[in-house]
Amino acid sequence: LEAKGYRFVIEKKEEKTGEWRQFSRSKLDIGQTFVASIVNVPNGFWRIKLSPGVVANSWWSLLLLVIALVVAALGAYFTYRILLEPIKLRRLVKEKTKELEYLAFHDALTGLASRRLLQEKINEHLERVRHTDNILGVLYLDLDNFKRINDTMGHDMGDQLLQEIALRVQSCVSQGVDVVSRMGGDEFAVLLTSIDSKKDAEVIAKQLINTIAEVIKLRHREVVMMASIGITIGPEDGLLAEELLLNADLALYAAKNNGKNQYKFFNQQMQQKMISMLDMEEGLREAIKRDQFFLVFQPIVSMSTKETVKFEALARWEHPTKGVIYPGTFIEEAEETGLIVPIGWQMLEKACKFINQYTNRYQQTMTVAINVSPRQFMEADFVTRVREILAENTVLPKHITLEVTESMLMEDIDHALVVMDQLRKDGMQFSMDDFGTGYSSLAQLKQLPVSSLKIDRSFVMDIGSQNEGVQIVEAIIAMSHKLGLDVVAEGIETQEQSDLLEGMGCEMGQGYLFSQPITVKQLL
Ligand code: C2E
Ligand code: CA
Ligand code: CA
Repeated sequence: LEAKGYRFVIEKKEEKTGEWRQFSRSKLDIGQTFVASIVNVPNGFWRIKLSPGVVANSWWSLLLLVIALVVAALGAYFTYRILLEPIKLRRLVKEKTKELEYLAFHDALTGLASRRLLQEKINEHLERVRHTDNILGVLYLDLDNFKRINDTMGHDMGDQLLQEIALRVQSCVSQGVDVVSRMGGDEFAVLLTSIDSKKDAEVIAKQLINTIAEVIKLRHREVVMMASIGITIGPEDGLLAEELLLNADLALYAAKNNGKNQYKFFNQQMQQKMISMLDMEEGLREAIKRDQFFLVFQPIVSMSTKETVKFEALARWEHPTKGVIYPGTFIEEAEETGLIVPIGWQMLEKACKFINQYTNRYQQTMTVAINVSPRQFMEADFVTRVREILAENTVLPKHITLEVTESMLMEDIDHALVVMDQLRKDGMQFSMDDFGTGYSSLAQLKQLPVSSLKIDRSFVMDIGSQNEGVQIVEAIIAMSHKLGLDVVAEGIETQEQSDLLEGMGCEMGQGYLFSQPITVKQLL
């Protein structure tokens, strides 16, 4: 055993004392770690203790040590992982929260502040100036012609354009002091924190309009953008961000209504107008439900014979308490709220009814010209509805002329051409209303299937024997004739105007000189 490297003890149990007496042993002490086995033989109990030798011992402990170290290392590693995991998670959550916060507070396309961040900043600064006589300015900016460019050049270009505008807006304000935000779509807002007077805000508004109006180069194309701006001053126009923004938006709306490409400061009347518009909307809804709209008809006469060749149908609102209301008061609101669509259908139906009444009364038919609103014209089922209403009332399309305006056709010229083509094939005619007040592009007029053109009242008003207005009207008439269009002059009030127009070759006229718009009852 010793030769093999083991240590041992062989002992015999003394029968009398019960002690173990060593019988034989290795040179080296057995030590603490051993196995023992008792052998029962006829001469008594013997015991052998055995323990591994020194060499084997160190090899074993080395292995055990290594195993222990590995286990310990693994244990430590997993403990570390388990303990670290929540810390890592917490860090990840923090990072993601930051990302989300950034997204919530910034616009992804331009990197500008979001509406929320702007609101927070406005409120912060309102709080700051509360006990001082400092002021702050909010500019609400909207691009005038973005939709058209976006539609014609594609959304990619639209995005690039917005990024360029974002840079230009930023270039007009103090970096790190003022806050520029994209409010959505083509709307931007600027918080001016370092102004001393309204004048300062005005200067920046002007600068914004001019900077934006500089030519923008986009992939071999050049575009010119225009912007309208509404301005509010805090705390004068509002003690909360929402109020300041809402009022700036109202001012923006007024700037747009006033002809775009300009700025306007907010004032109390704008709010009043908004409120009356909301009242108006409710009134209009009520009026549609209770059938309070009716038509009056104004004769359109032949300039040579002064006989009525057509009637223009004009809407009136029989208000239960306010009496008769003219379109000047409600058409714009009806258009903005979209209520012009149902009103328009009611008017077409009433015009058809009138044509039938007229035929029954005078045994001859009469053509009626009807004003079409842009909103109604853009309805997807416009052609179908027109055909339905005419069929229901057994009115032939050739007895209806639809009066359209240039600006409304230009909004979506392709769609307009399809609609006009379909109805023209039915025999319906189109007349270009208010000519001269819109874009007035002759090139475009050429491609439109209209059969007559109405010269706007503002031009007719300007003609007199010693007036240069004559030349403009003469030119419009000559040009219309070249394009094969008949001309109707609107708003003829004096004999002189009538004579001059007749002399210029104008085919038809309409105006108080011949007749005011009259009711069906009077007519029949
Ligand atoms: P419009 O199409 O240019 O209609 C002509 C307007 O000029 C009418 O005003 C008419 O009463 C007025 N007028 C006619 N002759 C004279 C004149 O000699 N002198 C003056 N000062 N005015 C004259 P009205 O009826 O107030 O209509 C205003 C506008 O409202 C119309 O302008 C038209 O654009 C719109 N409108 C009227 N009825 C409807 C309708 O049923 N649907 C739609 N969408 N718009 C309508
Ligand atoms: Ca008209
Ligand atoms: Ca007109």
